[in-house]
Amino acid sequence: MPRLVMKFGGTSVANMDRIRNVARHVARERKAGFDVAVVVSAMSGRTNELVGLCQDAAKLYDPREYDAVVSSGEQVTAGLLAAVLQGNGLPARSWQGWQVPIVTSNAHGSARILDIDGTALLEGFAKGEIAVIAGFQGVDPATRRVTTLGRGGSDTSAVAIAAAIKADRCDIYTDVDGVYTTDPRIVPKARRLDRIAFEEMLEMASLGAKVLQVRSVELAMTHKVKTFVRSSFDDPEFPQPGTLMCDEEDIVEQQVVTGIAFSKDEAQITLKQVADHPGVAAAIFMPLAEANINVDMIIQVASEDSVTTDMTFTVPGAEFERTKAILLKAQPQIGFASLHGASDVVKVSAIGVGMRSHAGVAARAFKALAEKGINIRAITTSEIKFSVLIEAAYTELAVRTLHSLYGLDKG
Ligand code: ADP
Ligand code: ASP
Ligand code: MG
Repeated sequence: MPRLVMKFGGTSVANMDRIRNVARHVARERKAGFDVAVVVSAMSGRTNELVGLCQDAAKLYDPREYDAVVSSGEQVTAGLLAAVLQGNGLPARSWQGWQVPIVTSNAHGSARILDIDGTALLEGFAKGEIAVIAGFQGVDPATRRVTTLGRGGSDTSAVAIAAAIKADRCDIYTDVDGVYTTDPRIVPKARRLDRIAFEEMLEMASLGAKVLQVRSVELAMTHKVKTFVRSSFDDPEFPQPGTLMCDEEDIVEQQVVTGIAFSKDEAQITLKQVADHPGVAAAIFMPLAEANINVDMIIQVASEDSVTTDMTFTVPGAEFERTKAILLKAQPQIGFASLHGASDVVKVSAIGVGMRSHAGVAARAFKALAEKGINIRAITTSEIKFSVLIEAAYTELAVRTLHSLYGLDKG
């Protein structure tokens, strides 16, 4: 029989009515002749609540215990859905990550899936059983401790399982009916895409579109998993196809810019009057690299005295305080006059494989943003995307401006 992986996110399983609705989607595919593995998230809000409890338990909590706690949300949903399916006369059982097993690295809180043995799941299929698998979790075989895959990790569980059991398709059901040209909650004129290239989805996800976890896109791309993003709120009897992630060549109507993403999880650091001599960039960025802090955009501006320079760069918002502390500690070695930081910044990015063959795409954006009075604090570009750092208050205006500029608004 053909095999299918169906993943349902938090809002899709938020209460018993929605779980019953999910069971209808599953029953439809079963009836259509698929062996089905369902991957579920925790009921919406549950993971945040569990994270809060961990923070309450201890200031510097043990990441292994964090994983023991936050992985529990998915276990509940898996059991509930299996029970509902059974109640509807469909053989089903729940699986926790370690039971499959889904083997991961030991990086608690953001573990990577290393291996999935699909044998037991396939044995279940042979008995006509639907597998309901708790997403987001795995096991570190060396310690036999439960691990979690980072926020949004159930997407990655689903795609990895699809690759492991060689599923014909992986359907990611969520609260929107596909991947849009930008977050439809911010821009009502956003358009749903029938298809998106893997590379573009990878950039969209990396640059802030949380509709798919970045690692799930990487896995879909490397293992060529046919993955759709679609809505669990569609009538289970009349499902819509959603958005297919596919190779660039399989997209007929290619736009220059496919989508706009934004990330509020950014912080800006400016070091004023840094002594301008060889080795200074290393003196700034080496200590940050050693502390595992990812530096993203970097701008160096020669100052008027031409003896010193100002250095501006961005780090993830969560690393803002740590970055400042490290740099202030290293101030005598680096040699700068002052440090200025801002966390009310946002990175807005435009993505499209068409940028490879079109010049001046970013320049148009700079002009359009300037016309709206939006000041650009930093810029980065690469082959298929460019990003600008702006004040957070202008997020919506900037996203909407770029969305219209590149002809993405729906008619
Ligand atoms: P789930 O709980 O199902 O995993 P998420 O909340 O993680 O769902 O992801 C779905 C959300 O992603 C949508 O509600 C939407 O607001 C947001 N999103 C951001 N960018 C996009 C985009 N380009 N296309 C679709 N949704 C997007
Ligand atoms: N429940 C986890 C989270 O909220 C994993 C997921 O939903 O994908 O991050
Ligand atoms: Mg998600």
